[in-house]
Amino acid sequence: MIEMTDVSKTYANGVNALNNIDVLIEKGEFVYIVGPSGAGKSTFIKMIYREEKPSDGRIMINGHDLTTLKEKHVPYLRRNIGVVFQDFKLLPKMTVFENVAFALEVIEEPRSEIKKRVMEVLDIVKLKNKARFFPDELSGGEQQRVSIARAIVNRPQVVIADEPTGNLDPDTSWEIMDVLEEINKRGTTILMATHNRSIVNTIKKRVIAIESGRIVRDELRGDYGYER
Ligand code: ADP
Ligand code: ADP
Repeated sequence: MIEMTDVSKTYANGVNALNNIDVLIEKGEFVYIVGPSGAGKSTFIKMIYREEKPSDGRIMINGHDLTTLKEKHVPYLRRNIGVVFQDFKLLPKMTVFENVAFALEVIEEPRSEIKKRVMEVLDIVKLKNKARFFPDELSGGEQQRVSIARAIVNRPQVVIADEPTGNLDPDTSWEIMDVLEEINKRGTTILMATHNRSIVNTIKKRVIAIESGRIVRDELRGDYGYER
């Protein structure tokens, strides 16, 4: 479902962020992306939702070639990929409900349908009772759960999370993992870049390690590695 063939990325300033990446990620997998700062993890992730384009190689997502995808088709791709960021990126002047409804790509749907769908995803992240709250009235973990609700409201096949627990304390981080695992159980593919050693070593999943722009390790049920 996600396939990279000989993908390289050199930024405009000449920085060579990724080299000759070959990877295949199947529908329903849960994959951690690990590696030191500057290794190329974010670049890898950004190429999947077309925030960056590869300089070389081919990326196929659900049978669509991202390299030749026209700009006008990018929104269709993004409807199939939900993104969760380390810093949540919620809109501060909108309520929880509005933040999630805003991401819903249904123009024609009656309000009752929109409400139903938003409340369904708020139920999955256990925030139905805070639908009317504003982001600054929530804890960090709750804000991240809103951002996960926003990412899944269009029922994407893939959820990409770039350091989703990076700003959260350990207990809250485990709660976020519960939510991501639940979403994965429902069939969504999850890619998660992380520096969280205890999560990777406890909730065993496929681990892809990137160093200096290359995949140096790809293991089913892998470890975090990089022992202190
Ligand atoms: P990671 O997520 O593993 O920390 P990144 O993908 O952010 O790594 O960065 C990989 C390399 O690419 C680093 O050397 C970084 O400085 C560089 N880089 C990232 N984004 C850009 C950009 N927009 N322009 C130029 N260089 C960039
Ligand atoms: P742009 O027009 O600048 O490419 P968009 O309006 O498509 O940006 O997206 C706004 C922001 O949301 C961007 O920073 C982008 O990284 C992020 N984003 C893009 N696709 C998704 C998605 N499927 N889910 C959540 N956030 C996304």
